[in-house]
Amino acid sequence: MAHSSWLDAFLVEPGATIDLEALDPRDRSRFPDEESARAGIEADAKAIDDLQDRLYAEGRRSLLVVLQGTDTSGKDGTIRHVFGATGPLGVHVHPFGPPSREELAHDFLWRIHRACPARGTIGIFNRSHYEDVLVGRVRGLAPPEVIEQRYAQINDFERLLVESGTVVLKFMLNISKAEQGKRLQGRLDDPAKHWKFNEGDLADRALWDEYREAYRIMLERCSTAHAPWRVIPADRKWARNAAIAAIVRATLEAMDPRYPETTLDASSIVIR
Ligand code: AMP
Ligand code: MG
Repeated sequence: MAHSSWLDAFLVEPGATIDLEALDPRDRSRFPDEESARAGIEADAKAIDDLQDRLYAEGRRSLLVVLQGTDTSGKDGTIRHVFGATGPLGVHVHPFGPPSREELAHDFLWRIHRACPARGTIGIFNRSHYEDVLVGRVRGLAPPEVIEQRYAQINDFERLLVESGTVVLKFMLNISKAEQGKRLQGRLDDPAKHWKFNEGDLADRALWDEYREAYRIMLERCSTAHAPWRVIPADRKWARNAAIAAIVRATLEAMDPRYPETTLDASSIVIR
């Protein structure tokens, strides 16, 4: 099945002005029905595993998948569903929390750069350098002029990655405030989910509008031709997973990784 039609799905045009509230978190117009979307996730996950194998064998390029979104937007679930069929050898997941003392003693991209995927592998960021212009901006963790510089620094950094053979896919998981409210309540109602709940989530929810504004600025300044953002409707988990699986698959298909040519004449070798 050709997946190339997914390549430009949910793209933020470089230079465009964004009205986040006009992007519907419940949009499902790309899917005729839920059942076929769910079947699509499974097929795409298998295809991603096969493409990852080729990427590894080829050993020349890499893929970086950046997942950003507010608490409960589904970053963990996306990783589970989209990469759950991919062999673990060539995939590395990096969650980013508050920086450590050591990390704070360096520039904000230091910890990010060392986590970027080696040639032949896929790297997945659960949160990322974008926290430094999101929570960093909303909570004033650095002076405003330092935050301002970061957008261009991020664009330059991502261009370095791209020019070095890394394809950069950036997904913002767009959930509504009402849906986040339901999911946080779900965590309170289920003892097995209590570990996921922390007070900080409510403090961040109270700053919902400030975060939306920080996201808008991030999308407007850091959706570049070399590393564009995609805003994924994420109120429905199946639609979110199906969209991201299809886009990751289409991206890998477009990269078209090849098994290396060898001079091996298999028919001349006899195993005794
Ligand atoms: P979670 O993803 O739920 O484990 O939460 C991770 C927490 O780390 C979130 O509250 C983020 O805002 C926070 N975090 C991630 N990166 C940074 C950063 N660069 N500066 C400050 N806080 C961060
Ligand atoms: Mg959390």
